Amino acid sequence: MKKLGILGSTGSIGVSTLDIVAAHRDRFEVVALTAGSNLELLKRQIEEFSPRLVAVATEELARELARTLPPGGPEILCGIEGLIAAATAGEIDMVVAAIVGAAGLVPTAAAIKAGKDVALANKETLVTAGRLIMELVEAHKVKLYPVDSEHSAVFQSLQGHRREDVRRIILTASGGPFFNWSREELAQVTIDDALNHPNWSMGRKITIDSATMMNKGLEVIEARWLFDMPAEKIAVNIHPQSVIHSMVEYVDGCVMAQLGVPDMKAPIAYALTYPERVPTGVKPLDLTALSGLSFFNPDHDRFPALKLAYRALASGESMPAVLNAANEVAVDAFLGGRIRFTEIPVLIERTMDLHQPHPFATIEDVLFADRWGREKAREILSNAEFGVRNAE
Ligand code: NAD
Ligand code: MG
Repeated sequence: MKKLGILGSTGSIGVSTLDIVAAHRDRFEVVALTAGSNLELLKRQIEEFSPRLVAVATEELARELARTLPPGGPEILCGIEGLIAAATAGEIDMVVAAIVGAAGLVPTAAAIKAGKDVALANKETLVTAGRLIMELVEAHKVKLYPVDSEHSAVFQSLQGHRREDVRRIILTASGGPFFNWSREELAQVTIDDALNHPNWSMGRKITIDSATMMNKGLEVIEARWLFDMPAEKIAVNIHPQSVIHSMVEYVDGCVMAQLGVPDMKAPIAYALTYPERVPTGVKPLDLTALSGLSFFNPDHDRFPALKLAYRALASGESMPAVLNAANEVAVDAFLGGRIRFTEIPVLIERTMDLHQPHPFATIEDVLFADRWGREKAREILSNAEFGVRNAE
């Protein structure tokens, strides 16, 4: 029995993780669940999976949950203490880190320090604190398995091969809903347009990141740390069909790829059961039903976010944390109707321009850079000529 703590159980990844658990009750037991504010769904999950511990965002939500649950239910905690308790509970073997954003960093780091293996969906953990996290993984002798589909594909394509034989990693990107849109059309993108991803069904933040291509930028940084690969050896190809989930090219010219229908249940299950494979309910891939597989180089003029991520990696250690923080502020501002789609990378770049990068000694330093990035981005947002209202 693998005992799980699932951080962010009410999100897109959390729900798919519990689908896998439900299909393999003989393998998994759920010890802890955490949610932000979706109490309705959390209550259904508590009924179905009987965790010993749950955590929600605030004290008020915790009280509300306690009021509506029958007696004899789980211990209910809240806030960051609740997340840490759910990530470190003694009996847990593996933590599924599926919170969105830099909010996932502290609980994920706590899980590693407590000796838990981690199935990592929360890419922001490695984007903001990659080196420190990989050092913690080594020091505490835990395993970190990628859930992100591209990184799972790379991980799978590395099996049985020597790391020193790798020439480069090729991450694929769907290109998002605006792959063919002109600059002029991009400036008019609505929130609904951006939330309408062609191939994947995901949470709101990552869906916007996919549309700007910042998701791929964050994934380049994630791959840099996960596979200890310099940025020059990480390439990105646009592949609109999302059939090849990523590739590894070796020194002899051979390329290993992982293919499949785009469904997160496959990479989640692989992270949960590695090195075994289990049925996931993911539809088989019918290659004959495909009209073809195509690949393109990214267009950095129309989608500047990817270049910003490479720039952040090449700058000092704190720059990716600032890039990530500014991105979270920018995505939030876009979803709140305060800035245009094309202003997302502009806000991030301006924030980065004002940052003096420096090395990190501790996770506290990362949190400081994260706060700095958020504050600076909000300041720029309030002072400058951003926003639909000024754009006429
Ligand atoms: P989501 O928005 O659907 O779910 C996020 C979960 O985290 C929810 O349970 C929410 O309640 C919780 N949460 C959000 N903010 C929180 C906070 N401040 N404190 C505590 N809990 C909080 O997001 P998602 O799409 O499931 O993505 C989760 C992570 O997985 C992200 O880092 C994303 O980049 C990554 N990821 C997602 C997918 C996907 O297909 N959805 C694919 C690859 C990687
Ligand atoms: Mg991905």
